[in-house]
Amino acid sequence: MRQFKHFDAKTVEEAIAILSEYENARIIAGGQDVLTLLKDKVRGPKFGLPDVVVNIKNIPELIGVRETADGLEIGALTILSDIESHPTIQEQYGVLAKAAGEVGTPQVRNVGTLGGNLCQRPRCWYFRRALFDKCYKKGGDFCFAVTGENSYHCILKGELCYVVHPSDTAPALMALNASVKIAGPDGVRTVPLDEFFIGPREDVLHENVLQPNEVLTQVQVPTPTANTRGAFVKVKERRVLDFALVSLAAVVSGQNGTIDKATLVLGSIAPTPYRATEAEKILEGGTLNEALAQRAGEAVVMGARPMSQNAYKVDIVKGLVQQTLLSLA
Ligand SMILES: Cc1cc2nc3c(=O)[nH]c(=O)nc-3n(C[C@H](O)[C@H](O)[C@H](O)COP(=O)(O)OP(=O)(O)OC[C@H]3O[C@@H](n4cnc5c(N)ncnc54)[C@H](O)[C@@H]3O)c2cc1C
Ligand code: SF4
Repeated sequence: MRQFKHFDAKTVEEAIAILSEYENARIIAGGQDVLTLLKDKVRGPKFGLPDVVVNIKNIPELIGVRETADGLEIGALTILSDIESHPTIQEQYGVLAKAAGEVGTPQVRNVGTLGGNLCQRPRCWYFRRALFDKCYKKGGDFCFAVTGENSYHCILKGELCYVVHPSDTAPALMALNASVKIAGPDGVRTVPLDEFFIGPREDVLHENVLQPNEVLTQVQVPTPTANTRGAFVKVKERRVLDFALVSLAAVVSGQNGTIDKATLVLGSIAPTPYRATEAEKILEGGTLNEALAQRAGEAVVMGARPMSQNAYKVDIVKGLVQQTLLSLA
């Protein structure tokens, strides 16, 4: 591994100061993602190996789940296994508990943090290999996936780059209308998760709006309204230790079969967690039955442009949406 300076930040302010001082610095939390990129020496014209790594794990205020009058405040350093097993999250925010429990293995969940899970980099094998340093996401001018192996890539919203967002917790949190608190040199801002993730059209080098000297400090989840229920389902090739081929977080509210509000967010089909707004419109005000669930599934993939090896994802999406919605009827 290439040598780098290692700083132990004791406060968020200290972390921001170090990140602001060094041009090529990177945050490390659980290290599950960032360390593999360092060890594999992944770099490109605009993706340098860091000279400085800032450890934020010793900032106590970033750890833990707090219940407030408005919902939950989850510190960015809270590990995924604590979210998976938290009694209130299991009871009232089951979509999130399920999603956290679907990440990797118990070992990964015992170390990986919620902030790191939201900010992890894409899994595209060309991005993860030092050999392919000219790919767009590393600042080059080519996408190797277009003519190469693209079975796990996106079917929607690809442009220049065709990665999918790999996080399991992101679709669940988006479906629960969560926001993130971000601290930087100019203070703290709150960003709805709907606006946190960005695709290659906005910025091919990054997957979210974080600036290099900002720290994601907290995830805020509002209390679900009455008569709300939800599900998180992840389709994968292996039963354990696998990223999603497609995942779905669905949250619906309403009574007696009628849907007042629906939120559907899919993972692993687009460069960002994909909010299926057209399908939501079809569902709202309707009676949840097989025909409506089928129409919603078809609406999600309207406009999909599969690559040479991943048209199978279109069928998975349709079936998954239909099946999951009917389970919530
Ligand atoms: C074997 C294996 C299997 C996996 N399977 C899955 C899976 O099934 N589903 C899934 O979703 N993920 C999976 N992952 C990815 C992993 O679980 C997540 O990446 C993990 O949650 C990352 O958390 P971390 O704290 O280790 O992040 P780190 O590796 O420390 O950081 C990840 C990235 O986020 C940035 N970062 C971290 N915290 C902050 C913060 N507070 N503010 C700003 N930037 C920050 C870092 O700079 C880095 O770029 C897997 C990983 C491994 C190694
Ligand atoms: S999909 Fe994106 S990350 Fe993968 S090779 Fe193409 S440009 Fe690079």
